[in-house]
Amino acid sequence: MQIKLGTRLILANTIIMFISLGVFAPLLTDTDFHRLLLFALLYVVANLVLIPAALHWICLADLRTIQNVIGGIKRGDYDIELEAAPEPHDPEDEYELNRLKREIVWIRRAIGMREEDIRHQTRQIQTLNEALRIEAITDKLTGLHNARFFWERIGDCFNDHLRTGEPFAFVILDIDFFKRVNDTYGHLNGDRVLEQFALTLRENTRKTDVAARIGGEEFALILRHISPRDTQNNLRRLHVRLREQDLHLGAETTIRITVSIGYYVISDRPPAPADETPRSPHDIVKRADDALYWVKDNGRDGLMAWHELDPGYREQRRNAPPTAGEPPAGTAPAAADIQPARPEA
Ligand code: GH3
Ligand code: MG
Ligand code: MG
Repeated sequence: MQIKLGTRLILANTIIMFISLGVFAPLLTDTDFHRLLLFALLYVVANLVLIPAALHWICLADLRTIQNVIGGIKRGDYDIELEAAPEPHDPEDEYELNRLKREIVWIRRAIGMREEDIRHQTRQIQTLNEALRIEAITDKLTGLHNARFFWERIGDCFNDHLRTGEPFAFVILDIDFFKRVNDTYGHLNGDRVLEQFALTLRENTRKTDVAARIGGEEFALILRHISPRDTQNNLRRLHVRLREQDLHLGAETTIRITVSIGYYVISDRPPAPADETPRSPHDIVKRADDALYWVKDNGRDGLMAWHELDPGYREQRRNAPPTAGEPPAGTAPAAADIQPARPEA
């Protein structure tokens, strides 16, 4: 752009000179004319050499630097060197490009600071969002996942199972006669029991599993990649651990509690008969719930799998409402969005 400007200036200068020559030539003698022609030629040569050099010396180099720096700012590169002249004593006297350079340096610094500010705020928002996300899926008392998270995950697990056949187990644990704990030791001590119970659950589940508190004294586990046999062995061990655990209520008092556990394993082998295939995450929860109900009905402090229930009992429970409740508003588990990958038996 600056070179074009220089070229135009030179051209304009030369054209004006030749027009003047054309106007004055008829008035001159031969000798005068030859002198004038010689002068005109020298003038053209000077124009071609001196004006570009002068322009370059005066401003082209500065303009190019400024253009480079502005290009850098556009690309987000604030490191291109730009020497800004100090403030002059008399601003009227100042070379304009120096002032421009100083202003560009100022703008560049302001934009850089603003960007750093935005980056900082973005990081703060991300941290805050993460904290909010964790709070939204965490049970405040026990630190386990809450019912909202649990209902989302059970939907995901069910869909994963339909897609890949991946087995998983769903377990519901309900503390027996918990109301008596509250009545005897007070609500706060009841809370201490829930906290210690939850800690044991967390310590006995893997990272890929989900441990959640889905009701007052009701807990749920989703055990991933697990066979029916391993589920049974693991839950037997957990059951013993929970009932034999000393729960501390203050410095002096320790108590023990019992727990009823019902579970359902969705295995990688097709279940038989075909009508046993669960159709939704709700079916899975209902089955574990029916098994839990059976334990409650049969003396509590036990472990039961839905598959082991008597068919008559299953039938009896078919239309009974689940005791584990429904998902909180807005967190219905993702419905099975795909067809089963395996042929149904
Ligand atoms: P069951 O063996 O049939 O399960 O008897 P239960 O007493 O455990 O069950 P029930 O449903 O009769 O009572 C549950 C009790 O759990 C009543 C309620 O006060 C208590 N509870 C619910 N949420 C909390 C809580 O956050 N903290 C405390 N301390 N108690 C709770
Ligand atoms: Mg209970
Ligand atoms: Mg209960």
